[in-house]
Amino acid sequence: MQKRKKLKIFTQVCFGILALGHQSPMHAENLVCTYGNPVLLKPTKRVEKFDNYTKEKMEKMLITLHSIENAIGIAAPQIGISESMAIVSFSSEMIQKYEEGKKKKISNVILQDGKEVQNILELMPFVFINPSVQAIGTEKDKMVDGCLSLPGVYGFVERSHKIRLQYQDIEGIKHTLECDSLFAFCIQHETDHLHGILFIDRLVEEKLMVDTMSPCWKKLSIYPELLQKKEASKEEILEVLKKLGTTFDYSKLKNPKN
Ligand SMILES: [Zn+2]
Repeated sequence: MQKRKKLKIFTQVCFGILALGHQSPMHAENLVCTYGNPVLLKPTKRVEKFDNYTKEKMEKMLITLHSIENAIGIAAPQIGISESMAIVSFSSEMIQKYEEGKKKKISNVILQDGKEVQNILELMPFVFINPSVQAIGTEKDKMVDGCLSLPGVYGFVERSHKIRLQYQDIEGIKHTLECDSLFAFCIQHETDHLHGILFIDRLVEEKLMVDTMSPCWKKLSIYPELLQKKEASKEEILEVLKKLGTTFDYSKLKNPKN
């Protein structure tokens, strides 16, 4: 119980930072492993111990996730930890923006251990350890996917519309969650990371788009040739990403002088 309380308090602090729009808590927490880093391609180890050390790693993931604007999810390998732990976290603002823009719910139905979850925010940040995903039905969602480990590039990916997730929480307690739509899509994206799979391995078409609308990418000028074209073949974009190196410092996006 003590552990649970600590994580909850920590979480509230993180949400406070996000909601108030304060600057990132720590510069080092903006570092994310990116394409080319072998840790991203390695299947992770199961978490066997649910102790303070595991909690510290999860807290580091949370700080990193919440220090990056508009980030929805993170998996342990993205901060260099090859263990089966991930987080999906929507803020109320993100939910509102998505549901108004798309005119559909982030998830139509959420069942946790058989009980209906009325408000998705009750689950946030959704921490899941040792996950296993099963599709419910054959319906698929085709959506634009992106990843902190492939900064600034996006592509269409197809994933199961409705899933059943079996996982453990930070205390090691086993749960089952059923959900659909964007929430299910994000859980599948993060679970893929834990098997060494990136969204570029699941592209519907072998091409990627560059986010030319985001001024931060122009400031960084890391893909000047691609920014002209807005989209390119997967191979072409991956070549450019290799030049970026195997870590990316997201704090640079917050300060135009960098
Ligand atoms: Zn990702």
